[in-house]
Amino acid sequence: MAPGSELACAISGSTRLYGIFGHPITHSLSPLMQTFAFQHHHLDCLYVPFPVQPGHLPQALTGAIALGICGLNVTIPHKEAILPLLDDVSPEAEFIGAVNTVDIRDGRTIGYNTDGTGFLMPLQELPLSFAGTPALVLGAGGASRAVTMALLQAGCPELTLCNRTPERAHRLSGDLRERFPQARINCVPFEHAAAAARSHILMVNTTAVGLHPGDPQLLPETALRPEHVVYDIVYRPMHTELLQAAKQRGATIVLGIEMLIGQGAEAFRIWTDHTFPTAAIRNLVYPLI
Ligand code: NAP
Repeated sequence: MAPGSELACAISGSTRLYGIFGHPITHSLSPLMQTFAFQHHHLDCLYVPFPVQPGHLPQALTGAIALGICGLNVTIPHKEAILPLLDDVSPEAEFIGAVNTVDIRDGRTIGYNTDGTGFLMPLQELPLSFAGTPALVLGAGGASRAVTMALLQAGCPELTLCNRTPERAHRLSGDLRERFPQARINCVPFEHAAAAARSHILMVNTTAVGLHPGDPQLLPETALRPEHVVYDIVYRPMHTELLQAAKQRGATIVLGIEMLIGQGAEAFRIWTDHTFPTAAIRNLVYPLI
């Protein structure tokens, strides 16, 4: 029996329906987390995974509205494709170019991207002042757009971007400068990441490196120090090689799974205005990674 499957589940005529659109969808942890949170707050709500084929998104969304579904999470391959189908999108989702949460009220669909808020949540538990902390961000893909925007919104004064494909980092830094003209944003070549680490406290990996055994080493162990805070948003495996090295060198580490839980918390807040039972959800999902 999967953890959480023993949760009570009562459906009534007034049960509110939520769900997730994706393909494939079987490995998503969202049904477990959201179901647990609904039941924790005794909310008459149900959360269902919907395996929506890539070509079926418009019909699925129209169907969800027609059926009175109240909210959706959206994952691969629909996060970008859903944007033009929505009535409104948040400034974050617009900047990132992807939506992972939809709120449906009175037939109107509003798209959000909760990556940035989810990313910040575990950092807010640390004795770290964003205003005094320059950040080194490895990667310039979709997740990096969310992370860098969130850091600048939180008051980070200086960002250094480091991406394998330099053009992508330059494009992102240009977009960020337009929105945050007061921030100092630099791009450094990927091979200079270790040198850049010396002048930063917070380091974030937003690349996909670390997902697979045999992936290249992102930073040599010697670049890591006890005063560093190293955050790897890759969450499978939970302790990536980067995090293992950082821990060995005495640095503070932040696990990518915490960002995933944070995203779920923000979606739950948007839909219900309730707080996520984060500690209990941690106990539920950590053993599944
Ligand atoms: P993406 O848009 O495809 O971007 C991938 C990034 O990884 C790019 O910066 C890419 O560099 C870099 N990269 C890939 N392989 C590399 C390699 N071998 N060496 C150096 N750089 C490499 O993907 P994404 O949506 O940003 O997601 C990135 C990672 O974040 C994924 O592992 C994803 O699972 C994770 N993520 C986690 C959470 C969470 O909640 N914890 C949320 C979102 C994403 P180039 O530009 O040079 O290709």
